[in-house]
Amino acid sequence: MKLNKKGMLVVVSGPSGVGKGTVRKALFELDNQMFSYSVSMTTRKPREGEIDGVDYYFVSREEFEQRIKDDMFLEYAEFVGNYYGTPIDKVEEKLNEGLEVILEIETAGALQVRKKVHDAILIFLVPPTKQALYDRLIRRGTESSYQVEKRIAKADNEFRLAHKYDYIVVNDEINNAADRIYAIIRAEHAKTERSIHSYLEILEEENGK
Ligand code: 5GP
Repeated sequence: MKLNKKGMLVVVSGPSGVGKGTVRKALFELDNQMFSYSVSMTTRKPREGEIDGVDYYFVSREEFEQRIKDDMFLEYAEFVGNYYGTPIDKVEEKLNEGLEVILEIETAGALQVRKKVHDAILIFLVPPTKQALYDRLIRRGTESSYQVEKRIAKADNEFRLAHKYDYIVVNDEINNAADRIYAIIRAEHAKTERSIHSYLEILEEENGK
């Protein structure tokens, strides 16, 4: 029995190439009714195989900047020359439906979420070693070597903010990492401060019968 009617906002950050997307897919396979992925908006060009509206909403800089003015983002940031942001409307809708909403975002955006949504949980996904990250970025082959270097440098900077997160999860193996995140979400739901009010309401209803 689930006590909380509202879902939780779960932020997953981690260096470029750590496997956030793959771990998220494995997490969704653990329960196909529990999660909703928040599709971000970006000014980055689509990579081969990426689909508009599924991987990202791909827009121009002008369109993005207009949406900033219209206050349509829960958070947004610039990352290696492009804008990325979380459209707020869908997030609220899904949380109210009781789904756990997963944001895969970089650190500056995550810290904006921390300020705005006090009960969001922040998870930092790390590679088992720095070499593993480097190998993965090279193998993925989606970025030029210049971009890979920039992303690795960015990873070092981002890691300096890991202490601001609630949890560190090592992606040594995809299913292990997904299991850990699943366990964190279950445990967070059971926290007294999240569940006591709902339980008291149930008891009151029972007494009122
Ligand atoms: P990529 O270009 O590799 O898809 O994403 C680059 C970085 O931007 C990744 O760390 C990714 O998690 C992050 N990112 C993706 N969407 C958002 C978003 O909506 N907001 C923020 N702040 N970062 C995002």
